[in-house]
Amino acid sequence: MAERGIVVYHQPELFKNTNKDARIITSPMGNTGIFLNLYDGENPAYERFLLWHEIGHIETDGLSIKGRFFSASERSKAEEISANIFAFVALVQQQRIIPDNWYELSKKIGMPYLVLSELMMVMQKDHDFIQYLNKQN
Ligand SMILES: [Zn+2]
Repeated sequence: MAERGIVVYHQPELFKNTNKDARIITSPMGNTGIFLNLYDGENPAYERFLLWHEIGHIETDGLSIKGRFFSASERSKAEEISANIFAFVALVQQQRIIPDNWYELSKKIGMPYLVLSELMMVMQKDHDFIQYLNKQN
């Protein structure tokens, strides 16, 4: 993350008043941090998913990091799905073997099963189109 100018902080004590596990925040001084509700080394696979998800917010919002002052607290369902799809694609591309079984896949890429199955439902709507694309390549 350092090459993006983003610092990762393992600070579970900052998450007492929220049900979230990660936040990306840019201060008015222009410092960007991803805060995790995890201790360092506590759950590396889930941490990797959380980091890709937060990066996904930057990439899919189409905003520069500096445009994000304190704007991270309220996000729509659509924004969360976009960030999850971004993380899913990034993490699946890193796998050499992709399990057919969603439960196995969720464990492998560190994405919680509920998040993955929700994403699969969204992508199911495009199933015929995706299959067609796969046949062309
Ligand atoms: Zn999010």
